[in-house]
Amino acid sequence: MCLFCKIVNKEIPSTIILENEDFLALEDISPKAPSHILTIPKTHFTSFNDVTPQNMSGMTSFIQEVAKKVKIDKDGYRVITNIGENGGQEVPHLHFHILGGKKLSWGNF
Ligand code: AMP
Repeated sequence: MCLFCKIVNKEIPSTIILENEDFLALEDISPKAPSHILTIPKTHFTSFNDVTPQNMSGMTSFIQEVAKKVKIDKDGYRVITNIGENGGQEVPHLHFHILGGKKLSWGNF
C-alpha cells in the first residue's frame, strides 16, 4: 500500500484540513509556503495521467473549499500536480499541492 493510501486509511498520522467521501486534504510535512496543503483522492491513482474527468468531478470544488477554509482564497494561491519523473513526482499517488499565504515567485517549485 502506498504512503498516501496509508494516510487515507489513517494508518499514518497526518494533519487533516478537510475530508469528504472522495477526497482528503492534509498539511504537507515539508511546507514550501506558509500554507502548503495536499489534496488527494481516496482512490489510488498513480498520477494525473491515470484519471478521467469523472474521477475528478469533485476535485475542483474540493480544492476551492480547502482554499477558503485556510483563508487563502481571497489573496490567491497556486495549485500544482507533479506527474512522473520529469514532473518531479515523489509520491506515486495523485495529489494537488495548494500553496499560498505569501506572494509566490515563479520557479521556486
Ligand atoms: P511530489 O514531489 O509532488 O510527489 O510531492 C510529495 C509531497 O508529499 C512533498 O511535498 C512531501 O513533502 C509530501 N509528503 C511526503 N510524506 C508526507 C507525509 N507523511 N505527510 C504529509 N506530506 C508528505
